[in-house]
Amino acid sequence: MRFDELGLAPELLRAVAEQGYTEPTPIQAQAIPLVLAGQDLMGGAQTGTGKTAAFTLPLLQRILPFATPSPSPARHPVRVLILAPTRELAIQVHESVKSYSKYVPLRSLCAYGGVDIKPQIAELRLGIEVLVATPGRLLDLVEHRVLSFGSVQALVLDEADRMLDMGFIPDIKRILGMLPQQRQSLLFSATFSEEIKKLADTMLKSPVLVEV
Ligand code: AMP
Repeated sequence: MRFDELGLAPELLRAVAEQGYTEPTPIQAQAIPLVLAGQDLMGGAQTGTGKTAAFTLPLLQRILPFATPSPSPARHPVRVLILAPTRELAIQVHESVKSYSKYVPLRSLCAYGGVDIKPQIAELRLGIEVLVATPGRLLDLVEHRVLSFGSVQALVLDEADRMLDMGFIPDIKRILGMLPQQRQSLLFSATFSEEIKKLADTMLKSPVLVEV
């Protein structure tokens, strides 16, 4: 399997090639065509499997039709929301988003707690399409009324089992309640306990299970 057989746009393939990836990992080969087709997905994958690119690349492609160099914030509503349990993971995911979106006019931001919220607010006001956030800081930003979720078309919950261990499930449920019902949702977790399955039931519609 080659990357150019997965149906990804040339601008994204160019960025992938620059990363030096020669072929997709198993989770990428399985998940990318499904996510491109708009499927909800439950992904069983640990860190190190290439799961970040498995959701980032196809979701970037799904919002490519909206990519615009226009400076108007109104032209850059949040379209993809990626939730990560820790600042470190959020930063790592955002690094991937930045490198894969290098050749497309899509804006992204990483928002996590423990640092001044003001620069994050200022960036959000400029408009961003891809928001990577930890749940607590996302809710803080909601309180500051700088976020609107009406254009969110895809949600990713990364490392859902760690979210659960860290007590983030009530936050996640609050966030889910603010998102449009009509959206694509992906949940990644290294393990699938009953609680994760319950969360998946409330969040995903007819998900395909992909495990590596
Ligand atoms: P992840 O599991 O998403 O945290 O990715 C683990 C590491 O694998 C990261 O350093 C990626 O840059 C790298 N990686 C992701 N996809 C590929 C690929 N297709 N070929 C080689 N390395 C990759």
